[in-house]
Amino acid sequence: MSRSARILVGLVLGLTLGLAAGWLFASGGPLAGHVSSLGWWIDEVIQPVGRIFLRIIFMVVIPLILSAIVIGTMEMGDIRTLGRIGVRTLLITVLLSGVSVGIALGLVNILRPGHALSGEKRDALVAAYSGDSQKNIERAGRARPLSQTLLNFIPENPLAEAANAFNPDNPGGGLLAVMVFSLFVGVAMTVAPPERTAALRGVFEGMFEVSMTIIGFALRLAPLGVACLGFAVAARLGADLFVTLGFYTATVLLGLSLHQFVIYPLVLRILARRSPVEFFRGAKDAMVTAFSTSSSNATLPISLRVAENDLGIPPRVARFVLTVGASANQNGTALYEGITVLFLAQVFGVDLSFAQQVVVALMCVMAGIGTAGVPGGSLPLVVGVLLSINVPAEAIAIILGIDRFLDMCRTTLNVTGDLVVAAVVSRDGEDVGPASEPCAGSPG
Ligand code: ASP
Repeated sequence: MSRSARILVGLVLGLTLGLAAGWLFASGGPLAGHVSSLGWWIDEVIQPVGRIFLRIIFMVVIPLILSAIVIGTMEMGDIRTLGRIGVRTLLITVLLSGVSVGIALGLVNILRPGHALSGEKRDALVAAYSGDSQKNIERAGRARPLSQTLLNFIPENPLAEAANAFNPDNPGGGLLAVMVFSLFVGVAMTVAPPERTAALRGVFEGMFEVSMTIIGFALRLAPLGVACLGFAVAARLGADLFVTLGFYTATVLLGLSLHQFVIYPLVLRILARRSPVEFFRGAKDAMVTAFSTSSSNATLPISLRVAENDLGIPPRVARFVLTVGASANQNGTALYEGITVLFLAQVFGVDLSFAQQVVVALMCVMAGIGTAGVPGGSLPLVVGVLLSINVPAEAIAIILGIDRFLDMCRTTLNVTGDLVVAAVVSRDGEDVGPASEPCAGSPG
């Protein structure tokens, strides 16, 4: 059985048993008098077992983010050698990622999918997951002046920020400050003489590989971990879980569709001067492959073929933009991460101020650069962002069940976005200057 099939089986089993247990022990159920013993089993046995899988992921969130953003930025930022291709790619990537996260923020604030949960269930969830819940929520909602918040993103001491990235009392910029530091390192590495930075580059590439390998270990435990976390959530929320999940899924799909069918056609028409219908017709092979593999990296060979043969994009533009894009241009992932983090914050009653939502948005744009183009690549980044805004990471159990399907959809957007950027960069077959091969490495 493939890994994703095993995870699915674990999840279905966990959810079914959790729902059954919730019903058996609910007031009016056959075992109503023993509800405290169900609570004991969940708190002392089932949830800790589920947490093993999550803690292995937490362990590598910082080195993964650091190395992935450094490598992703190096790939994107080699502006000196890439001339106009590099500059155009960078600008359009940042623009599209910003728009996708803007859509995410707008939809979650308008539709409020996390508020589908009843107040009573929310209180039970918060009490169960947040330890000193009220304190955490107060801290999370505590707004700082915008100027101080923005200043804190430039860390005075990146090591201190990394060590305290998930510490709710950290007065600094936390995870976002670590991301900004990584961005600076990545940019500096493209400017510094390559022969003097080759060893450091090797260190970051090695750090990225090791972090991904450890995530791979965690994923081996995922079927059991997901079963336990799914059991705990289903026993506590009952059928409400599915209603809330339905609202969440609809919000993500609406956001992805808006970006795919409104923003991309506008960009194609205005910036690339192409017919969107013909573009989508030409790009369909890559889109279908992205949907079925859930991996931008695995789709890359097809995207390259489609770009050159069906969309008439010059090979040297296609090679650069698509290779970098498979790693660093992930609009679907950024949109999904934004909706997921804000949705889970709503579920846990964490009221984020406007400034805090802007921080989440910035983290999601950078997380888009740092997410690996593999199935479930965004999972560790979502966990990192959740922890940094004081939403318990177990919250991720709520969305794991639907994640594979949403991964297929967001990967389709990621891959389409890479082709759109390539079309804009190569507008009218203009000569866009010299291109060289981007560096190896596959984060983002
Ligand atoms: N599966 C996505 C991709 O390959 C990454 C993610 O969002 O998990 O593009």
